[in-house]
Amino acid sequence: NVRVRFAPSPTGPLHIGGVRTALYNYLLARKLGGTMILRIEDTDQNRFVPGAEQYILEALAWCGIVIDEGVGVGGPHAPYKQSERKPMYRQYADQLIADGFAYYAFDTPEELDAMRARLQAAKVPNPQYNSITRAQMRNSLTLPEDETQALLDAGTAYVIRLKVPRKEEIRFQDMIRGWVVVHSSAVDDKVLMKSDGMPTYHLANIVDDHLMDISHVIRGEEWLPSAPLHVLLYRYLGWESTMPQFAHLPLLLKPDGTGKLSKRDGDRLGFPVFPLEWHGTDAETGEPTVSRGYREDGYLPEALVNFLAFLGWNPGTAQEIFSMDELIEAFAIDRVSKSPAKFDVAKAKWYNEHYLRAQPNAELAPYLLEALAAHGLSCTPEKAEQIVGVMKERVSFPQDFWQEAKYFFDAPMEYDPAVVAKKWNPQVADALAAYADALSGAPTASAEGLKNLFTQTVEAQGLKPGQVLQALRVAVTGAAAGPDLFETLVILGTDEVAGRLRTAVE
Ligand code: GLU
Repeated sequence: NVRVRFAPSPTGPLHIGGVRTALYNYLLARKLGGTMILRIEDTDQNRFVPGAEQYILEALAWCGIVIDEGVGVGGPHAPYKQSERKPMYRQYADQLIADGFAYYAFDTPEELDAMRARLQAAKVPNPQYNSITRAQMRNSLTLPEDETQALLDAGTAYVIRLKVPRKEEIRFQDMIRGWVVVHSSAVDDKVLMKSDGMPTYHLANIVDDHLMDISHVIRGEEWLPSAPLHVLLYRYLGWESTMPQFAHLPLLLKPDGTGKLSKRDGDRLGFPVFPLEWHGTDAETGEPTVSRGYREDGYLPEALVNFLAFLGWNPGTAQEIFSMDELIEAFAIDRVSKSPAKFDVAKAKWYNEHYLRAQPNAELAPYLLEALAAHGLSCTPEKAEQIVGVMKERVSFPQDFWQEAKYFFDAPMEYDPAVVAKKWNPQVADALAAYADALSGAPTASAEGLKNLFTQTVEAQGLKPGQVLQALRVAVTGAAAGPDLFETLVILGTDEVAGRLRTAVE
């Protein structure tokens, strides 16, 4: 019974790497006929950001990642938000203490600072509260039993820490990386329960994965260092036989490969790192901030999903275009790469162009109509559909339609100078004037009809169509290049074209 979970912490907008994690979970769940669960891990109340949870739900929905069970949906293991599950965790911490796998630690922040300072002075490379240093600290392993009890009875603040063994090889099999072996000396005595009675991420995560029957934990590589600790927790809680399978996804790197793509990179690198626009506040100044989103930048969700799927996975064939259903069909976790994936935004744009072209004109027309309205212009939906139909081969984003299609609404104010210099002469002008006359009053014909009329007119003037064609385009649109010229003329209408030609030859 395959059950996977996406378990974000609502500490801000979901990063694009988080969307990829959610996507891979979803693909695996669908591929294997399993269940996709959304759990919100909000035990760290200090890092809680209002609006983040709503953002996560909206971003997943926009991408077409469907949650079967969890926050926003409900299900047999509700609640799915850890802050609402708080009373459930305590008993497991108590169980670990009773079984000798965890202990109370009473150290004050000052005592902890002093310990770190001592270790730093002694040039210990990685100061930790662990099997060695715990001996000098105030905890239930070092204090006599009655003293511990007295401290507890007096309501002294404490945390509960995991008792990590000193010399042990912790091993587990990662679906992407194979066997991972970590020596326990590299793992510190992590806090499981904080002094406010809230579990930490580690305890809550393991308890919930167990209680929610999670079969596969698919998450980012940044959690790999925590995995040995999680393996110990499964063992100490007696849940080793049902421990989920782990898959740690490769890092996403900046486009130049110089390190992890971070939440702060977006505006600096000139592309969004969030699926949707995010309205936040600057941590230092308190000023409102806006971070770009793929949606608002004009990416279609199908394009973003296809692009993200390929950041760390490939089907092993040359095929690059995959709908969500095709991704589900093709996805296999053993084809996920161990090596980091470079974020290549040019590729995202390429995907967007593909999906934009595949959209029906009626879906795209509203983008143009909206932009027209914003500029105090309008046209019929039919005309907008015709325009986006000829323009969609030439744009990367829906908002480009307006920029590229302006000449359908405004006669050109200037003409591409290179074309004028090369193609314009009195003979050509005469031919265009003759074409204007031929068009005047003629009903709006097909592109084919207008083309034939053009050929006849130009040949009657002793010229070849090729000598006049570019001049015709520039006279009508101002630009040297564009979509099919005679389709463009049809959309403009013969009267408008004739008028523009007359202006141009004056
Ligand atoms: N809450 C963790 C996060 O924000 C989840 C890590 C995991 O999947 O175990 O990424």
